[in-house]
Amino acid sequence: MMKSLLSIIASLIFLCLNSIQASDQPNIIFIFTDDHCKQALSAYDDSRMITPHLDRIAEEGMRFDKCYVTNSICGPSRAVIQTGKHSHLNGFVRNGNSFDGSQVTFPKLLRANGYQTAVIGKWHLKSTPVGFDHYDVLIGQGPYYNPQMRTGKLDGEQRVEENTGYTTDLITQKSLSWLKEARDSEKPFMLMYQHKAPHRNWMPGPKYLTWLDDQEIALPDTFFDDWSGKATPASRQTMTVAKHMNQHDLKLQLSKRHVQFTPEQRAAWNAAYEPKNRAFLEKRASMTDREIALWQYQRYVKDYLRCVKSVDDGVGEILDFLDESGLAANTVVIYSSDQGWFLGEHGWYDKRWMYEESLVTPLLVRWPGVTKPGSINDQHIVSNLDFAQTFLGIAGVEADPSMQGASLVPLLKGQSPEGWRESFYYHFYEFPAVHSVARHHGVTNGQHKLIQYYGPSHVKGEQYDEWELFDLQKDPDELTNVYDAPAYNEIQQAMHAELDKLMENYQVPPLDRGPEVPSFP
Ligand code: CA
Repeated sequence: MMKSLLSIIASLIFLCLNSIQASDQPNIIFIFTDDHCKQALSAYDDSRMITPHLDRIAEEGMRFDKCYVTNSICGPSRAVIQTGKHSHLNGFVRNGNSFDGSQVTFPKLLRANGYQTAVIGKWHLKSTPVGFDHYDVLIGQGPYYNPQMRTGKLDGEQRVEENTGYTTDLITQKSLSWLKEARDSEKPFMLMYQHKAPHRNWMPGPKYLTWLDDQEIALPDTFFDDWSGKATPASRQTMTVAKHMNQHDLKLQLSKRHVQFTPEQRAAWNAAYEPKNRAFLEKRASMTDREIALWQYQRYVKDYLRCVKSVDDGVGEILDFLDESGLAANTVVIYSSDQGWFLGEHGWYDKRWMYEESLVTPLLVRWPGVTKPGSINDQHIVSNLDFAQTFLGIAGVEADPSMQGASLVPLLKGQSPEGWRESFYYHFYEFPAVHSVARHHGVTNGQHKLIQYYGPSHVKGEQYDEWELFDLQKDPDELTNVYDAPAYNEIQQAMHAELDKLMENYQVPPLDRGPEVPSFP
């Protein structure tokens, strides 16, 4: 009797201590993927696949429906998250830039305030991670199988290690090992657990090579969009599922330079893909262009979903570990991706555009005892620009004045702060470049969206200066540009004024219309 009473008292003391800790410096796990759109995350959309583990974060936390990225492409999104600043101020405007690690970043500030920090998986900012006690990151994009990874500590020593296995699984195992064995249990931690998947060329792991083989994935309504309702650049891109996927993307002929299998992996891959490929190649000559496009869509989307499946499994392992270790109650789990993605909408794959599919990224946050389980925020416009300040806010650390976002902590507490942003500024710079998406910028308030295409045209010597205006309520698929429609005259003027205001607020330099890639300090 006495013993059980003592154990109850001990548990109560533990719970109290835990809740005191919870209000002070909770641990943070930032789960991040590359190119994972909400169309393939069943907490948002269960029409293609079920992601039970990712859904758990939403069920036990908050789902954000209007999380917009400032520049819908991989490296730039990561730089925005590190710094809390728009691309033109953090200097990483396009892939190929190298991140300036001398800037103020949120991991540095967390470290200075007692946190242990680590990044494991995809980094993709070229320069060495700064502000982390431990890093173990892919080199560049990294392959789906058997990646080399660069690992190091804050003191500067680093080495390149060979790894054997499926990259998604390896990143999960490395994250678990760090959580279990390497971290200092006396300190709160912030772990960035960052997947390569489901980035192009969507290579599934050994477990899921034939998963979905017997299913047909639904086709988006806009798959055969002819872009006639949009400005000129939309019809000049090179990112259609029908015409712009190569043999490597379609797994008809893997590039030897990009894939180095072990003999076992090669055998499993060939056993799964060769029969499927043979069946297609035998009838391809008799298929119409439309039939081929539909086959390519199925191949592409299934491989993409298979990659997400392994990510979801990994998230399940992390969540299980948090439960088993007792860390769950005092750990904030955040899930997001570097941008949205076209899963066949408008006939496309890839991202880059300010259109909804690539502008909106998933955001799920579980904060036990603070965020109401199962809550949905479809009111507030939030952004990857806010992540740095949110991580700092969770830790009770003051943000740096250079940061341009806002902490989501009040929203996570269910509050509706006065003066929250009602419009959002977007800017894409990477042209000329792969997929040929023209430079553009714009503003959205969630109801209307104004976009300007500027700078070098696809036609040599010409410049774009075209505008689009979409009514997102009446036309959620953005099929009809109403910029010149008289009925939208007032809205057009108001959106122009909003764009000017945001450019001034965010210190956006004059648009660089030169033929060369724009450069910023
Ligand atoms: Ca990406």
